[in-house]
Amino acid sequence: MENCIFCRIARGEIPAAAVYEDEEILAFKDISPKAPVHILLIPKKHISGLSDMEEGDAALFGRLNFLAAQIAREQGLAESGYRLITNCGRDSGQEVFHIHYHLLGGCFLGSFWG
Ligand code: AMP
Ligand code: ZN
Repeated sequence: MENCIFCRIARGEIPAAAVYEDEEILAFKDISPKAPVHILLIPKKHISGLSDMEEGDAALFGRLNFLAAQIAREQGLAESGYRLITNCGRDSGQEVFHIHYHLLGGCFLGSFWG
């Protein structure tokens, strides 16, 4: 997608602090971190959100989950724990409509349920 900010990051048109990259997946530091470790994982392919994922994307997202756990280990979070979330749609507060997973850790994140 021409003007999608995360597509532009994936194409290298906008700089980002990458922590992992391969042909299909990019992981980079969130520009406005909500925890000591806050990394975004994206497929380079433009998919707006989880509801737009197709069955043929299942292996890609399986690998993305595997890489998230690997990055968490590399960031020293394996023992202390971490959270992996994706926002989808208006009520979730999704702001960037290119699917991304937030990997958060490095402090106690609290209860997710208030
Ligand atoms: P969401 O609310 O789930 O759509 O989250 C979007 C996330 O993207 C936020 O945590 C932003 O801080 C982050 N973000 C927006 N622009 C950039 C950027 N250029 N580089 C890194 N992270 C970004
Ligand atoms: Zn995109």
